[in-house]
Amino acid sequence: MSTTTLHLEHRFADALPELAVDWQAEAAPGPTLLALDEELAAELGLDPAWLRTEDGLRLLTGERPPTGARPVAQGYAGHQFGGYSPRLGDGRALLLGELTDREGRLRDLHLKGSGRTPWSRGGDGLAVVGPMLREHLVSAAMHALGVPTTRSLGVVATGRAVQREQPLPGAVLARVASSHLRVGTLQYAAALDHQQPGTGLVRRVVEHAAARHHPHVLDAEVPALALLEEVTRIQAELVATWMSVGFVHGVMNTDNVTLSGETIDYGPCAFLDGFDQAAVFSSIDTGGRYAFGQQPAITQWNLARMAETLLPLVAEQAGLDQDGAVERCVAVLETFPTLYGEAYAARLAAKLGLPTGLDPEVRTALVGDLLTLMQAARVDHTGFFRDLARELRGTGGEQGTPARDRVLDLPAYDDWATRWRALGPDPDAMDAVNPAYVPRNHLLQAALDAADAGDLAPFERMLEVVTHPFEERPEWAAYALPDPAGGPFVTYCGT
Ligand code: AMP
Ligand code: MG
Repeated sequence: MSTTTLHLEHRFADALPELAVDWQAEAAPGPTLLALDEELAAELGLDPAWLRTEDGLRLLTGERPPTGARPVAQGYAGHQFGGYSPRLGDGRALLLGELTDREGRLRDLHLKGSGRTPWSRGGDGLAVVGPMLREHLVSAAMHALGVPTTRSLGVVATGRAVQREQPLPGAVLARVASSHLRVGTLQYAAALDHQQPGTGLVRRVVEHAAARHHPHVLDAEVPALALLEEVTRIQAELVATWMSVGFVHGVMNTDNVTLSGETIDYGPCAFLDGFDQAAVFSSIDTGGRYAFGQQPAITQWNLARMAETLLPLVAEQAGLDQDGAVERCVAVLETFPTLYGEAYAARLAAKLGLPTGLDPEVRTALVGDLLTLMQAARVDHTGFFRDLARELRGTGGEQGTPARDRVLDLPAYDDWATRWRALGPDPDAMDAVNPAYVPRNHLLQAALDAADAGDLAPFERMLEVVTHPFEERPEWAAYALPDPAGGPFVTYCGT
């Protein structure tokens, strides 16, 4: 393996040149590898031993792209906290190119923190060690939890200081995604189409996205509408998986919504300790726009922004006028609450160890009543479901009712538990889907603080734990507990 034998394609740059600016990563004066996902490397057909060599590091920082590669900064727009920004784009990132993995899937190899680009606006184009290690660990945890996500191949410290509130060590993260196409990509394309009619850019983005992620869309009668249907379906599934593991993304702007249905951009994200629909962690989300319980509604809002970009194309492909196209798109968007509701209820039923095919009314009532109990007591989201299985087995310790002990309204709980037990829940099935370990905010922060001070051991230990979320081990007990200080945890956007 070498930079001359590694083959990166440039399909995005070829198909959508209006959205691609040829660009070069900044050199890293003293690259040091901080984290490497060896399993992912193997999946990609990359030799981990080679990635650790000087040549490998210079690939991971983008300084020495493989022969024939064509790195580009991608253009996109986006609604940020509801306000529209027509020009976002890769202000500190580059798409190195696409590679075919061992299973024949096309994957993007992308860099974050690789220097200024024409999209940088006032930013320095750089990233620092803490937030990049955070993305590495949280995305690895999400993958282990079974949540569709972009991945981190590795994090390399650049040896360059980056000026934030104080100087901090710089880093580049090498990200792998099934693509970096976003709702914001379509928004940017729609604006260009509007300025220069006849370029057919939205149509080409639709075709490119369909070819990469949803091939059957190309055979549909109205491909643009079929893409909207497909993205609506996978985003409903995605947000249901977030809700089922207590994940709060924190910055669900339309530029952070992928057409592939993968979670992207781990900036101010966090996991719930106490269950609370109103939970917000991000310092900048003062209005609670992206609160835990808001995530499904915001996803639907983001999909409506996607639909707007597709209206002229839907009209053209379906032979309709504007009103007709709106009607067709609205009909798709209106399927979202049902798709989401079904996906979330199914996940909750699985978390409760219940078989599929339950009477939907029984299931909805059972799940709804449980959420009410959880919310009232702010029960620890992760611990509670593990305790329900313990309680069911009768191995809950001295008192034997560790889940019941967490709630406030005991008569309501007893009534609920009687109905639940009557459905024959399976505690082993519960433990297979309910993680014992998610990245606890306070532990992650402590691990990143230690890494900043030069000690990677707490980070590496935590990475080991959260990538084995279902394997309960006595020596990992502290990782299963919420923040003992219990205070509100605040995250900051990872620049
Ligand atoms: P994000 O919040 O990471 O999704 O980023 C939103 C936008 O800000 C994207 O266009 C980024 O490229 C850009 N951005 C974030 N940090 C920086 C930075 N340090 N320098 C330049 N652009 C940045
Ligand atoms: Mg982003």
